[in-house]
Amino acid sequence: MITIDDELLKRSLLNATLNGLQSHYISDCPFCGKSQHLYVQRKTSRTTRGGKNASYYWQCKKCDSGGGIFKLLKKLDKLHIISNQREVNILDTFVKKSLFEQEVQVQQHNPPRPLGWKSIKHHSYLNNRGFEPWQYLLYSAGTTVIDPSLRKYIVFKVINNSEYNGYVARLFTEDDQLLRYKNSKLTDFSTLLFGLDEINCNTDTVIIVEGLFDKAAVDRVLELYIEDDVKCVACFGKKISIVQINAILNKGVRNIVVLYDNDAVEATKKYSNELSAHFDSVRVGWVEYGDPGDISSIDQMSHILDNLYDPVEFSLSKVSIKQL
Ligand SMILES: [Zn+2]
Repeated sequence: MITIDDELLKRSLLNATLNGLQSHYISDCPFCGKSQHLYVQRKTSRTTRGGKNASYYWQCKKCDSGGGIFKLLKKLDKLHIISNQREVNILDTFVKKSLFEQEVQVQQHNPPRPLGWKSIKHHSYLNNRGFEPWQYLLYSAGTTVIDPSLRKYIVFKVINNSEYNGYVARLFTEDDQLLRYKNSKLTDFSTLLFGLDEINCNTDTVIIVEGLFDKAAVDRVLELYIEDDVKCVACFGKKISIVQINAILNKGVRNIVVLYDNDAVEATKKYSNELSAHFDSVRVGWVEYGDPGDISSIDQMSHILDNLYDPVEFSLSKVSIKQL
């Protein structure tokens, strides 16, 4: 459960005033524009009908928009008030001596470039997976007809700190004889992040996912290409190395949301706790129905982001489910 400074919350809303009971802020609605019709629950121990803590749930009495705080703050362009909340993690003292104590020197050895690679602006395979035009350019998507080993693949270049480091290729046709993914050899993917260069000096929160198509879905649903506060990177699997952590830290990012596939419970526990030693705030998102790549609407995404766990809470809740 998140906590938002009450004064910050009030200032983020449009012309907010307190209701008589002082339980809600009443403000203008950013969705329909009606003045003084939006009710936002202040921090409370009350629960919703669904049994969740009711803090920050909101509704407009005019247009009936409503939901969790993430959706509202996104609309108001005030997401940063969530990420500015510094979390005190009780595991901090224990994980300081994590596996990550030894730094590793990064050394990529001239990764081979895909021969004949040409950028593409559309492709039926990617379009079918929901790709939007801006994603082709942002992810350096391309194809080649020259390299025979890559002819049936979409080849995404991996660029970190403006340097080409290799590629990730996805088979775009049905063919049991071929691997679904084919990545450049001689590339140490454990030192790289897909999307690292999208992080800019105004970014303070990064969502970490496993794969490129998870990132693509998160970017699309949250429209992160026009967002500076929040960005999403993929770490090419479930592991996160100290080199990857440092790459994010070096960009000035302070807050992390770990959003892995729901078969990655143990990895999520391990890495969210380890990340807590390095960042101000680490949160865990849980996709009940599968992968972040399956998220297709802002409502689904808001539900996840409104119900983030802290790493300790996540570890405990997943243990208790197992023991039942
Ligand atoms: Zn409204």
